[in-house]
Amino acid sequence: MIRRLSCAILFTLVATSTQAATLVYNVTGYTMNEGERVQFAALEFEDGVITRLYSNDLEARASKAEERIDGNGAILLPGLIDAHGHVTALGRGLSAVNLVGSTSAADAAARVRAFLADNGNQEWVRGHGWNQVLWPGKQFPHRSSLDALAGKQAVALTRIDGHAMWVNSTALKLADIGPETPDPDGGQIIRDDTGRATGVLIDNAMNLVKAVMPPITDEDMANFALTAMQALASQGITSVHDAGITAQEVRAYQALRRENRMPIRVYAMLKMVDPAIDQYLQQGPLIDEQHMLDIRSVKISADGALGSRGAALFEDYSDMPGQRGLLLVNDEQLDRYMDRSMAAGYQVNVHAIGDKANARVLDFLEQMIARHDNRHLRHRNEHSQIVRLEDISRFAEIGVVASIQPTHATSDKNMAGDRVGEARLAGAYAWRKLLDSGARLAGGSDFPVESINPFYGIHAAVTRQDHQNQPPGGWLPGERLLRNEALSLFTEWAAWAAHQETVIGRLLPGYAADFILVSDDMFTMPAEDLWRNQVLGTWVAGRKVH
Ligand SMILES: [Zn+2]
Repeated sequence: MIRRLSCAILFTLVATSTQAATLVYNVTGYTMNEGERVQFAALEFEDGVITRLYSNDLEARASKAEERIDGNGAILLPGLIDAHGHVTALGRGLSAVNLVGSTSAADAAARVRAFLADNGNQEWVRGHGWNQVLWPGKQFPHRSSLDALAGKQAVALTRIDGHAMWVNSTALKLADIGPETPDPDGGQIIRDDTGRATGVLIDNAMNLVKAVMPPITDEDMANFALTAMQALASQGITSVHDAGITAQEVRAYQALRRENRMPIRVYAMLKMVDPAIDQYLQQGPLIDEQHMLDIRSVKISADGALGSRGAALFEDYSDMPGQRGLLLVNDEQLDRYMDRSMAAGYQVNVHAIGDKANARVLDFLEQMIARHDNRHLRHRNEHSQIVRLEDISRFAEIGVVASIQPTHATSDKNMAGDRVGEARLAGAYAWRKLLDSGARLAGGSDFPVESINPFYGIHAAVTRQDHQNQPPGGWLPGERLLRNEALSLFTEWAAWAAHQETVIGRLLPGYAADFILVSDDMFTMPAEDLWRNQVLGTWVAGRKVH
């Protein structure tokens, strides 16, 4: 049954080029519409905007569209929205050697060799993710295994934790590190028996090499963003909320937008601690007529992460007495950051993981929303991870969006229990409680910390299990979401959190033709397989981007 949207204001999207009317047929189409699931058999769009849905094939046959796309029986869904990710970090990772999971120094070197075969012209080869503890012998690697691969090129590979760097002789030479070079304060140059550097630099000694690496240019940054956006498009993501960008990233996005090279949409949060923030606050929100690049929010970080015990808790960590984490901003800063951002008309999105950080962010948002009378800006709590039970209902009361990342729950499940203990888990990753309290949710992944695959998020939200179906029945299974809700989370609700719910996130006449074709029906397939759904094609504003 097709239910027409009656109350929403339908935006007219101004297309840059006229496009013939196109019919996508032979599909099973789904969209969420204000929490209700709508099914259809074909979709028609023109100039990037949906003009009609057909409820059955017979009706679709009467379509006068000149262009036709045969869906071959695939499932058609709205383009998925990732409400929290780090785009250029993803692109940087994809533009460097991935050493995560390497099984030996030789295996790591082989990955560098394979990378060089495709990227032989890079002056500096970067990589990340090695961990000698997982290698036979657990010894630090040596420059000689890299010297054998790259002659003129400098190679710099950071350890998984970012606290050590493995470099080749060219990099040591460029950094002028010789036997006489002293260890810098807070750093160590690992040396052999003769005093020569072995090629492993610890902590501040890495700065000697970093200082001679070429800085990232605006063009590099644009390439990182583009590489990441293409990867996201390939996984069915048509819009991403970039959770904290600097002026250089703003410039990179604006250049790509000007050149009409953005494959997917970006809704960006400006990093509050970026030195250039004042310029943007003065200028005010940047809202794109076609919503390819909207910059109208600010990102503030209130605390750290749970894994490193940096998340701010009211009571001690259960697995480390005396430790309660750290607030990254004091009251005066939080007040000033929020006040200035809101005065400039920006949405304020605050990272909060620990129960203390969450309570404090809610306190401040409550005061500030009252001060500026701007609940309509839809301020957000990014992560909303460990929340005291008494704070759950405050999201809806104050009008703060809970921006959540379902895969964090399934990745963190064992660690989170260790860190906060049974009692505090009652309000941990508590999506059902938040939803039932009337809170608005938005779904994301926090890539590159987690996979960019949005079906991993949908699977985690529905099952609260990992890909091995653990734990049986799901982790804190009372917090599971229904499949309808999981789709809303990554479509219309994420769009709402970006003020775009009348433009994207639903497939209805007047909405942008942002849609994907996928292999499996997420409403009928076994829940444990939801993460296996494959993306067959991705369209943004009627343009095929993957
Ligand atoms: Zn993040």
